[in-house]
Amino acid sequence: MESFLIKELKILAIDDNQDNLVALRAVVSDAIPRARVITALDGNSGINLALSENPDVILLDIVMPVVDGLEVCRRLKQDERISHIPIIMLTALKTDHKTRISALEFGAEAFLAKPLDEVELIAQVKAMAKIKEAADMQRLERSHLASLVSERTLALEKELIERKKTEEELQKANQKLRETQTATLNLLEDLRKEITAREKSEAELTVAKNKAEESDRLKSAFLANMSHEIRTPMNGIIGFSELLKETSLDIDERDRFIKIINGNCQQLLHIINDIIDISKIEAGLIELDHDDFCLDDLMESMADNYLKHASGRGLQLILGKDPGCKSTRINADQGKLRQVIDNLLTNAIKFTEGGRVEFGYRLRDNSLDFYVKDTGIGISEEHRKIIFTRFWQVEFGLARKYGGNGLGLAISSAYVNKMGGEIHVESTPGMGSCFSFSIPYIQARAKPQIQPQKPQDASDFTGKTILIVEDEPDNFDLLNIILGRLNLYILHAWDGNEAMRIFDEHPETDLVLMDFKLPDVPGQEITKMMLTLRPQLPVIATTAYAMHGDKEKAMDAGCAGYLAKPIRMNELLQLLKSFLN
Ligand code: ADP
Repeated sequence: MESFLIKELKILAIDDNQDNLVALRAVVSDAIPRARVITALDGNSGINLALSENPDVILLDIVMPVVDGLEVCRRLKQDERISHIPIIMLTALKTDHKTRISALEFGAEAFLAKPLDEVELIAQVKAMAKIKEAADMQRLERSHLASLVSERTLALEKELIERKKTEEELQKANQKLRETQTATLNLLEDLRKEITAREKSEAELTVAKNKAEESDRLKSAFLANMSHEIRTPMNGIIGFSELLKETSLDIDERDRFIKIINGNCQQLLHIINDIIDISKIEAGLIELDHDDFCLDDLMESMADNYLKHASGRGLQLILGKDPGCKSTRINADQGKLRQVIDNLLTNAIKFTEGGRVEFGYRLRDNSLDFYVKDTGIGISEEHRKIIFTRFWQVEFGLARKYGGNGLGLAISSAYVNKMGGEIHVESTPGMGSCFSFSIPYIQARAKPQIQPQKPQDASDFTGKTILIVEDEPDNFDLLNIILGRLNLYILHAWDGNEAMRIFDEHPETDLVLMDFKLPDVPGQEITKMMLTLRPQLPVIATTAYAMHGDKEKAMDAGCAGYLAKPIRMNELLQLLKSFLN
């Protein structure tokens, strides 16, 4: 059975001829019992009916007044709501070919020529109804599909949004994770750093503790040793001074005692100088002097000084000179160079029981290489570096046997460094040692000045007046006795103010010995005031500081000379001779 028969078939017939419409309804109702025919007499009402009734087929007459069938067909096909309804155009037989083409172009599905063939009409109507039904089904399916698609699209969009949201959340979580990871890594790094720093500071603390313990041990040993080193000469000085009081002594005994006292004083002075030197080194106060002098003279004078000492211990002392060195007049810090070689020679003789001590220098390229070699007890490898540390002695027991304060090599090493070199030692225990160092070879700038030989006669300064400014009674007493023997007229001031007063009262004063450390005004200031009043007056500074720069301070104040305490009498005499004669 045909599907359209199941449901009612709705046919819209548009024709301006009422009779045609009646005939059409009759034919269709006869042939298709379930068909309902609705009719319109003009185009506009036909279009309205099509819109309101949604028929299955439209039968449309072409020739109509006001709006003809072609126009109605065009409008019906243009309206999306009803364009799918098949249109069968009813044409007159004579309808020309052109009109038919126009109708097809406007969308008409079929043509029936008037007078209508009933069978053909019904067949056409049925065919069109089938097409419409198929089209409706298709549209239905399409719209179903479209709604499915849009539902799916919606679902997908929703899913997409959800997914996006999840992704964003995931990204956020990732970011958070990364941040946490970074924070953890940073924390770990901080922790690692802290552990390293703590380990480092613990290690530093251990090193510092060991150092402090070592230094404490060294200092205690040094103090014990130093106490021994100071008490020994002091014992000699005090003991032999007591003996000097005895009236029964003959001249030879007295001379011997005085020599012993003098030797012990020199030993004490050496210790004090070492302590001052090491303090200056540690305070960073070491400065170099630049003296022009003859190196050979210096080395020979040292050989002379040590010859007796060496032979007294049964040792041979050899001085080696470099025959290749053309000019031995050099520029260097003579005092420090002498002190370094002195220390090395003292040690070499001290630590050598038999054999020989050899010292000297060689010129190599632009440096002077010095050496002091002995055939003594030698130094084991483990001790070779450490002996340059202050207070350090290989064996404290041995040190007592040999004497010494453990400062010589520390001072020597610091001095050599300051002079631009480094001190080295090579040694074989039981065979001997060789200490060596280099300093830059700088030739002396000035030619040596030939000093006129001064007569060595006993000095007599009769008629000359000297003002001694000195606040220490013993120091003044000593100067008073010595200078009194030279027939000088002596004035004495205990402090700066008294010195100025005496200076004013005694314009005949020929020379002033000025202690720089006074209880009221610094000697430097008093010197300046005196020299403002008498610029030609020779003022000789005396100071117990013996620090580098004291001499410069004295010269800056305008002093004519400088004497470091303890004052050596021959130096004082030389100065007096040069200013008073
Ligand atoms: P000291 O006043 O004890 O001699 P130094 O600083 O001059 O002090 O020397 C330190 C230590 O080095 C000495 O105590 C000694 O143990 C060792 N020493 C120095 N020179 C020699 C040497 N020529 N032979 C053997 N040991 C030496």
